[in-house]
Amino acid sequence: MSAYAIELIDVHAAYGGIEVLHGVDLVVPEGALVAMLGPNGAGKSTTLKAIDGRLTPTGGCVHIAGRHMNGASTKQLARAGVCSIPEGRGIFPNLTVEENLRMLTQLHADLPMSEVAERTYARFPILGQRHTQLAGTLSGGEQQMLAMSRALVSDPSVLLVDEPSMGLAPRIVAEVYDVLRQLAAEGITMLLVEQFAQMALSIADYAAVMIQGQIVTFAEPADLGDVAGAYLGASA
Ligand code: ATP
Repeated sequence: MSAYAIELIDVHAAYGGIEVLHGVDLVVPEGALVAMLGPNGAGKSTTLKAIDGRLTPTGGCVHIAGRHMNGASTKQLARAGVCSIPEGRGIFPNLTVEENLRMLTQLHADLPMSEVAERTYARFPILGQRHTQLAGTLSGGEQQMLAMSRALVSDPSVLLVDEPSMGLAPRIVAEVYDVLRQLAAEGITMLLVEQFAQMALSIADYAAVMIQGQIVTFAEPADLGDVAGAYLGASA
């Protein structure tokens, strides 16, 4: 079995004929947390889309748990234990917290609502207190927790997380990162996309720096050296 939960080999991807990934090589070792960093528009979110099947690569190979999976379906991903938390969080703002969770029991027919609620509220007690509140009226941090709990219900072995700190106050970002750190400690493999390098580097095993559709550096955070300063600016 591959030691890589995810491996991208020379992956190309395009929107309407305009190529934005120009040969991405990236590995996410099992049990590791890889932070993908880089400037706006570098192609970080597009890389996640190429992994989770929202975008089918125009070239190269996506391997998930050692299996070739270009343009994977949601079912294939779920079977491989991969769960994606997209930018914008992917929750339903006009449904309550509980209704958002209930949607999961329809997706995973084998999961009773009582179990989903119990697991979620044990991990995120604040969501238990807010269970009748519309998700769209939760604070940004609570919405991120709801997005994470939706993902965690399926017991994923790999999480793809896109910009979890987006739009959050620094104190709340710290709370969200406490949860991510805890998930990493529980052994969940993670590929985390972040604009703000500092927080991501504080919990990452490896950093992958993406510039203009390619990974230019892959290193442990301590070994990033000048790359962080040169490419990631003040946020590094
Ligand atoms: P950001 O943090 O700004 O999202 P990113 O590194 O995640 O940056 P991507 O969102 O992957 O970058 O975007 C890479 C390039 O692809 C950018 O030039 C962007 O304008 C373009 N792009 C992204 N999504 C689409 C889309 N749906 N249709 C067309 N072009 C797109």
